[in-house]
Amino acid sequence: MRGSDRIEQIYRDVVRRNPGETEFHQAVKEVLETLGPVLDKHPEYAEHKIIERLCEPERQLIFRVPWQDDRGEVQIARGFRVGFNSALGPYKGGLRFHPSVYLGIVKFLGFEQTFKNALTGLPIGGAKGGADFDPKGKSDGEIMRFCQSFMTTLYHYLGEYTDVPAGDIGVGTREIGYLFGQYKRITNRYESGVLTGKSPQWGGSLVRREATGYGTVYFVEEMLKARGDGLEGKTCTVSGSGNVALHVIEKLQQLGAKVVACSDSNGVIYDEQGVDLQVLKQLKEVERRRIRHYVEHRGAAQYLENGCIWDIPCQVALPCATQNELDEASARRLVENGCIAVGEGANMPTTPGGVRVFLNAGVAYAPGKAANAGGVATSALEMQQNASRDAWTFEYTERRLREIMQNIHRDCFETAKEFGSPGNYVIGANIVGFRRVAQAMLAFGVI
Ligand code: NDP
Repeated sequence: MRGSDRIEQIYRDVVRRNPGETEFHQAVKEVLETLGPVLDKHPEYAEHKIIERLCEPERQLIFRVPWQDDRGEVQIARGFRVGFNSALGPYKGGLRFHPSVYLGIVKFLGFEQTFKNALTGLPIGGAKGGADFDPKGKSDGEIMRFCQSFMTTLYHYLGEYTDVPAGDIGVGTREIGYLFGQYKRITNRYESGVLTGKSPQWGGSLVRREATGYGTVYFVEEMLKARGDGLEGKTCTVSGSGNVALHVIEKLQQLGAKVVACSDSNGVIYDEQGVDLQVLKQLKEVERRRIRHYVEHRGAAQYLENGCIWDIPCQVALPCATQNELDEASARRLVENGCIAVGEGANMPTTPGGVRVFLNAGVAYAPGKAANAGGVATSALEMQQNASRDAWTFEYTERRLREIMQNIHRDCFETAKEFGSPGNYVIGANIVGFRRVAQAMLAFGVI
């Protein structure tokens, strides 16, 4: 059977075996579509059913998370942890707390994570987890009680050599603190390496907080460099205003670019003179308020309620909020308005139609699994520091991050060329990640 026919059959089976999980189907399809030529070149992967095995998570946990709100009322959320693939190392991937979380989202993220982690070249497998808990508007006490209940079930399945979660949407340093505190209390072990994204005051790595955003910008910088261009003076828009978005904005500004817009799920801030990062950080990180309050500090800026950030002209667009936030129509508008590069800080933010528009228009397009791999890479550096009971300086850690992003870019770039699609980072990233995992799986036999 030809590689592409085999792939089609595998995809049909994935849809049949995982009904209703549309985001998971989408993520699998996007990867599988690029692997036909790899199967033709490596018949051993087909013979050992490597792709079929890769599409089936190694383990999936769904659990009840009961907790009490501030009025004493009992609430029940649903928790998830999917260990997708451990061929290259212990399960590694973030936890997302958001009302939209269900098994299909966790599986899409875990699947993506497997390839992303392989791309880093570091010894980490792929996983993801979370809960359909909405942290918005909750008090510190409610967040703490929720995290403690979540960890009380999950801790059985974690360990620095088994499964090492981190943050994602709705899970930052505060939540990781509560989760780690409960793990330590139940297990009677100060096992730093069991969670990453910890505060540097108690076992976290410097640069981890910044890493996803900084890494995304480094990747975009490399793409532009490969085209004889750079970030200096470029007008950029960045969706979201969470951890990834804030640090994308910070690094873009450090490298001389101008960020004119950012957003949250309610609206868009347009600040033609350039976003004031200090104001934004104060609002989001300290006061935990909505971005609409930004205009109270910057009179010239506009708040566009329910606006679409992709309507704002830019040369570089960085989607850093959530999956499928940038559709085909938005991609067309971006291209018409002169966008030349897109770097995905979020996971799968561009729909398949949007990706096609970018590739056909020759936009330098960096898929999330390559562009935002700096976060998990720095988590792996945090694990290294924990294992050696060491703490590296900011400068050293950032240098390591930058080298990792440059290496990922080079590997994707060269592999895309090898497979006859120069400049196509989708093909490059999928094939590099897949080959690394596949080689390890072959070595381990049928497990
Ligand atoms: P945060 O929770 O810190 O921020 C998320 C941001 O995205 C908020 O501004 C939020 O707005 C917005 N957002 C979330 N859901 C939606 C939605 N449905 N529609 C519109 N906007 C939305 O999360 P992160 O910054 O950590 O994560 C952002 C993205 O980056 C995610 O896709 C995540 O998977 C990815 N990522 C994160 C990594 C990390 O290290 N944190 C690593 C690699 C990827 P609002 O407050 O209104 O909800």
